[in-house]
Amino acid sequence: MELIDGKLISQQIKDECKERCAKLKAEGKEPALAVILVGSDPASSIYVNNKKKACEYVGIKSLSYELPEETTEAELLKLIDGLNRDDSVTGILVQLPLPKQINEDAVIRAISPKKDVDGFHVENVGALCVGEPGFVSCTPAGIIQLLKRSNVDIAGKNCVVIGRSNIVGKPMALLMLRENATVTICHSKTADLKGICKQADILIVAIGKPRFINSEYVKEGAVVIDVGIHRDENNKMCGDVDFDDVKDHVSKITPVPGGVGPMTIAMLMNNVIEAKER
Ligand code: NAD
Repeated sequence: MELIDGKLISQQIKDECKERCAKLKAEGKEPALAVILVGSDPASSIYVNNKKKACEYVGIKSLSYELPEETTEAELLKLIDGLNRDDSVTGILVQLPLPKQINEDAVIRAISPKKDVDGFHVENVGALCVGEPGFVSCTPAGIIQLLKRSNVDIAGKNCVVIGRSNIVGKPMALLMLRENATVTICHSKTADLKGICKQADILIVAIGKPRFINSEYVKEGAVVIDVGIHRDENNKMCGDVDFDDVKDHVSKITPVPGGVGPMTIAMLMNNVIEAKER
C-alpha cells in the first residue's frame, strides 16, 4: 500500500503558483483575491484564515471583507457587484455556509463567472459539462492532481464516485469522465452500493459519514480517495473511509488528514493565478 501524500503535492502546487505569480507581477499584473466572510462561524473563520495565509505564501494580494451575521442579501450582493466591476480584483470567494437570511444560490450567481475561482457558478459548471475551459471546483480539481501526480492511470479505468453534491460529487464525476474513465455515480438511493464499489479501480468517497466505507466495499488493489473530514468520538480526525480496515487491500490511498484536505486551498491558489493569466 502506498500513501498519496496530499501535503507534499499541495506544497508543490503552491510553489508552482508562487513562481507563476512572480512572473505575473514582473509583467505588472498583480493577482488579488477578495475573501468575504459573513458572520463568525469558527470553522469558516479558520478556513478563511488558511486561505489568506496561502495567498500570502504564493504572493497573491488578499482583500478581506468580514461582515456581521445580520448582513442582508442586498448588502452582500452590492459588495459583490462592486468587486465584479473592480479591475484590480482577480477572484471573489464567498465563504459558505451563509446565514439563513441570505440565499446562497443567488450569491453564487451574482459573482462574475470570470472571477468565480471556486467554480460554483452555473456558467463554469456548464463549461465543465461540455468540455470548455472554465473554473473547476477546487476539491475535485485537487483530486485529479493527486491522481496524476501519483502516477495513477485514469483512462479506461472503472471509477466509482460516492456522493452527488454540486461541490464535490458531480464535478468529480465530470472530471473523471474528461480523463476518460468509465464513471459511475452512487448516492443515498443507490441499490447495492457494495457491489458497485467492488468494481471500482478508483473509488472516490464523498459521502459525509465517518468511516462508512470498509474493506467489504473495496476491490483488491483499488486506488481509494477519501474526501471526508470528521472528528470521531475521541476527537481524532478521520475520513469517510475506515482507513485501518481497507489499507491492506488497496494499492494507493489518501490519508485523513494530509490527503485531499490540503489540495482544496492549493487549487484555489491555482485558480486565482489562472484567472490573472487568462
Ligand atoms: P454532501 O452531504 O453534500 O453530500 C453527500 C453525498 O453522499 C450525497 O450526495 C448523498 O447522496 C451521498 N450519500 C449519503 N449517504 C449515503 C449512503 N448511505 N450511501 C450512498 N451515498 C450516500 O457532502 P459534500 O459536501 O459532498 O462532502 C462530502 C464529504 O467531504 C464531507 O465529509 C465533507 O466534510 C467533505 N469535504 C471535504 C473537502 C475537502 O477539502 N477535503 C471539501 C468538501 C467536502
